[in-house]
Amino acid sequence: MSTVRNTEAAGADLLVHGGTVLTVDDSGTVLPDGAVAVRDGEIIAVGPADALRAAHPAAEEIDATGCLVLPGLVNTHTHLAMTLLRGHADDVDLQEFLGRVVPRENALLSPEAVTAGLRLAIAESVRGGVTTALDMYWFHEAAERVARDAGWRLLSGPTFMDVPGPPDRMPYGNRMDWARRHLDGLRPSPGTRPVVFAHSAYTLDAGQLTDIAALAKEYGALLHLHAAENAAEVATVRERYGKRPVELLESLGLLGPDTLLAHAVELTDTEIAALARSGTGVAHCPVSNLKLGCGVARVPELLRQGVRVGLGTDGAVSSNSLDMVGALGMAALIHKAGGDPTAVGAEQAVRMATIEGARALGLGGHLGSLEVGKRADLAVLDLGGPHLAPRHDPWSTLAYSARAGDVRDTVVDGRVLMRDRRLTTLDEAAVAGAAEAVVRSV
Ligand SMILES: [Zn+2]
Repeated sequence: MSTVRNTEAAGADLLVHGGTVLTVDDSGTVLPDGAVAVRDGEIIAVGPADALRAAHPAAEEIDATGCLVLPGLVNTHTHLAMTLLRGHADDVDLQEFLGRVVPRENALLSPEAVTAGLRLAIAESVRGGVTTALDMYWFHEAAERVARDAGWRLLSGPTFMDVPGPPDRMPYGNRMDWARRHLDGLRPSPGTRPVVFAHSAYTLDAGQLTDIAALAKEYGALLHLHAAENAAEVATVRERYGKRPVELLESLGLLGPDTLLAHAVELTDTEIAALARSGTGVAHCPVSNLKLGCGVARVPELLRQGVRVGLGTDGAVSSNSLDMVGALGMAALIHKAGGDPTAVGAEQAVRMATIEGARALGLGGHLGSLEVGKRADLAVLDLGGPHLAPRHDPWSTLAYSARAGDVRDTVVDGRVLMRDRRLTTLDEAAVAGAAEAVVRSV
């Protein structure tokens, strides 16, 4: 897709003009004093501000002078309503983490609780320029209602996890029919797709994993799983199956371009080759991996082998925030710890948080860059703070200096969800109060 097109006069619903436009297209086009024109939720032109202002008179404008205009950030792995448990399980390993979180979830969760947690998560995400999230969690129907009302792009769907007394009280045997009903009821819309979540190879057995993957395939859904998050998980799976998690998934035929693995920290060279060969995507969650002491994923090797790697925050219990600006900064830094400052560069990290994340979700044709024909998901980041001056290079500014709080405006599907740092579809004080009330009620 070209970045400068449709220059003949045509009205726009929204024109974002005057800032430095970081398109994140394949050639890395940066437009100083650029603009983005939007109609019916779609980008209809990207180019110089003067030309677009003349060609596309707009009903609504955002003056982005002194700002960076970037594609909305794509969070490829999270559990959004876990905002309710933020701070509940710090400074413990993954197994102790699950031991603390699961009983609390069982006591707390309901459609109403997930509604409150989701509103809080969306408020935080919109504030940080995040426009899309892949959300694996209980009561996804409630989450989808909240996201729809808020105008935010949520990729959600049924989660399979065979644990005693799940928070939704649904017996495991009923879940396949429930998932089918959900998938049958979906209406396709650009920038989204069906998703089926299989929690992991340690909460599901081989037969269950195979059945869930077959369901996903039947509906053309993305299959999303946790895999190889830490050494203890590898040991558990190996004890049960004689194989490491990614080896197991490969042997079951679960790897492929419609599969996205969260974490993938513990990988052998052979497993990396299997991910590359099969086109399997990885959702890299550097903050969560650090906080839970899981280690550092082998992202430079994954990138070298051509694996699609997106970025995620994970839930707000394991990373304590849904800050994708922070996650991309961490992704640019953490891989240098091995001694190679070129391991993951600023532009690569920004790409992982935008276009590569969209590609990992199988939505690279619709999301992740500012190009004609894509959905109008973008963030306007105010460059006025002293920590952002002087400006030598926008990729560097975004990866190493910017903070989520610098985001001033956020647009999803052409709709302005935050303007001048005020949310337009959520009452922030009420949202925070409701989340507190849910937590105090149990
Ligand atoms: Zn997770």
